[in-house]
Amino acid sequence: MQITNLNKGAINSIRPVFDGDKPKIYIETYGCQMNVNDSEVVAAIMQKAGYSVTKDIGDANLILINTCSVRDNAEQRVWGRLEYFRQEKKKRANVTVGVIGCMAERLKDKLLENNIVDIVIGPDAYRELPKLVEKTESGQKGINILLSRDETYADISPVRLDKTGVTAFISIMRGCNNVCAFCVVPYTRGSERSRNPETIIRELKELSENGYKEVTLLGQNVDSYSWNGVTFADLLAMVAESTPAMRVRFSTSHPKDMTDKVLETMAKYGNICNYIHLPVQSGSSAILQSMNRKYNREEYLQRIETIRKIIPDCAISTDIITGFCKETQEDHEDTLSLMREVGYDFAYMFKYSERPGTKAARHFKDDVPEDVKIKRLTEIIDLQSELSLASHRKDLNSIVEVLVEDTSKRSENDLCGRTPQNKMVVFPKGNHKIGDLVKVKITDCSQATLKGIAQTMFNNEEHRDTTLPDVSVNA
Ligand code: SF4
Repeated sequence: MQITNLNKGAINSIRPVFDGDKPKIYIETYGCQMNVNDSEVVAAIMQKAGYSVTKDIGDANLILINTCSVRDNAEQRVWGRLEYFRQEKKKRANVTVGVIGCMAERLKDKLLENNIVDIVIGPDAYRELPKLVEKTESGQKGINILLSRDETYADISPVRLDKTGVTAFISIMRGCNNVCAFCVVPYTRGSERSRNPETIIRELKELSENGYKEVTLLGQNVDSYSWNGVTFADLLAMVAESTPAMRVRFSTSHPKDMTDKVLETMAKYGNICNYIHLPVQSGSSAILQSMNRKYNREEYLQRIETIRKIIPDCAISTDIITGFCKETQEDHEDTLSLMREVGYDFAYMFKYSERPGTKAARHFKDDVPEDVKIKRLTEIIDLQSELSLASHRKDLNSIVEVLVEDTSKRSENDLCGRTPQNKMVVFPKGNHKIGDLVKVKITDCSQATLKGIAQTMFNNEEHRDTTLPDVSVNA
């Protein structure tokens, strides 16, 4: 499970899909990429039920908050937002507030106790949302947190909410059968089920026809994808062949399940990006065992070696949790040494926070003092900063292919986008636009960003650099 974005707060709000006299829905999304994609599914369900989508909360009849339970502070943010929604309800009559996603599943009735929330709906019950909204019209509360063994929303075309129309997510599976000791996901998202590959390819082709240039296949553990003998490697090949012009990414991989066949498929198809997010969580075999990760340090490093052998230019990122129960200084040093050995290009790093109901909460004591957790996390972040900078320095003076995703936040004269290795590149706009694939020469870097100049700029007289190969730029 990739626990990205958890500190970012609202990572996506729905933009208006169409206006008019229809009732309006506003959604705020917290948590991982799966939640972002789920919000798009919910938007599609509610559009079909007659709603239009708005990004203006003050305009909304139905306010939904899609929640994350992976860490305590993600839940605290949601409680804070609910207080804000209370004000919206006071200002206007007929505003309905719903909590959807993992927190709805975990906290159920508690969410309904505060006179703010009218609807609580878990990740497998989104089809019921129109009915529950109807129920609230007669003053009742609506709740459905049933988990399903087969719901994949395979027949629903998500309403794409990203503002640029360049990159999109496709969920290929839901739920998780692993029981990592720290993780609440198996309890909030249920058991694992894969989606029919035909529906995945249909969605992919729709995206391609609508001008999207990159897709990320999502699952809590994509390597355990399985549909009537179709493995994740098979699915990757089908996706890569179906839309050869589309960049393909995936997330999240599990070190115990990632096969050589997946790596060979990545190496075979040029449109599958050479980037793998492979969560390690800890560099200590003892801690990995108590986390129930089902691999040890040596096996993880073996996977890394195989990745490097089959895909030499593959970028690798990871998740790290520091301060898990009983973690000693030696365990912590094992994590630091593993980070150095792998040389991660990027990492998502957190201190352990106990989640009620998990295996760790039931069986272990959260016994690493808070100040020690903070100190260890600081050391891990500092080391990763060095590693990220070293990774970026290796790209200096090279030419990389960038898919332009947006205008730079710092300057409207600059564009930004990612390399296949998932590195963010910023460069002067020139004649390029969002959605272009641009060859960029890297001239500078920080630990977070590569900076460069588009090759077309070099073709202008004032920037001419005859050492650069002639590479065409696609619109
Ligand atoms: S249980 Fe483990 S594999 Fe499953 S979502 Fe949680 S961290 Fe990922």
